[in-house]
Amino acid sequence: MTSKQCVKVLITFDFDAESLWMSLGMTTPMPLSRGTYGAQVGVPRILSLLEKKGVKATFFVPGETARRHPETVKSIHVQGHELAHHGDIHESPIGLSREEERAALVRGIDTLAEITGKSPRGYRSPSWDFSDNTVELLEELGFVWDSSLMADDFNCYAISHQERKTSITEIPVSYELDDAPYFLFCFKPYLTGMANPDQVLSIWKKEFDGALLHSGVFNLTLHPQLIGRWHRLAILEELIDYIKSHPGAEFLSCSEAIERTK
Ligand SMILES: [Zn+2]
Repeated sequence: MTSKQCVKVLITFDFDAESLWMSLGMTTPMPLSRGTYGAQVGVPRILSLLEKKGVKATFFVPGETARRHPETVKSIHVQGHELAHHGDIHESPIGLSREEERAALVRGIDTLAEITGKSPRGYRSPSWDFSDNTVELLEELGFVWDSSLMADDFNCYAISHQERKTSITEIPVSYELDDAPYFLFCFKPYLTGMANPDQVLSIWKKEFDGALLHSGVFNLTLHPQLIGRWHRLAILEELIDYIKSHPGAEFLSCSEAIERTK
């Protein structure tokens, strides 16, 4: 590694809790309890690990999660992690009218602002997709960045909309760097999701190597109800240790990373 190589490491958590299952229309006790597990077991374990490693992260929190688990969300904020917008009830913007989408964004903003005292600067669409109105609404409501789209891997970029470069900077996500495709098991809609964590760790380490080689951004998406399982949390710890063994790596919140790229 040359001394010039560096990488912005963004460990992000989509703290969906019950709202993930509600948004899929699965409101019986079993699926909801999987979300509750994320709040009651996953997040405390994650916070403990992040504190032990001295790592700052970003948590994307739907309004529904913050209203249902206010003390847990407060504990994330108190520990110094960034809270960002992830819908109000984890609704996809697709199919909403402009007014409906705006109202959901405002409810989510207000709910997070009650905890942090300020509006969130960043957004991640619950469906990792935009309606025709999303990016204009993000600009109107004062967002600075988004993390839902995939036009690059190691580089942030300005989102274009109707042949115009918008003021919203994209921190690109990918399914390869998301724990859900590997670990989210469900009978309906059927998702296999029981991957060997060691194989996933191998993929994530190699992606980090690429981000470092390109002096770019390594943006990992995790879900407390998935990565919070003990055998999976172990690979997160191993990944953090691997990243920390590279002097050019810096763990940042998403907003800190955006500030550094200006
Ligand atoms: Zn989500």
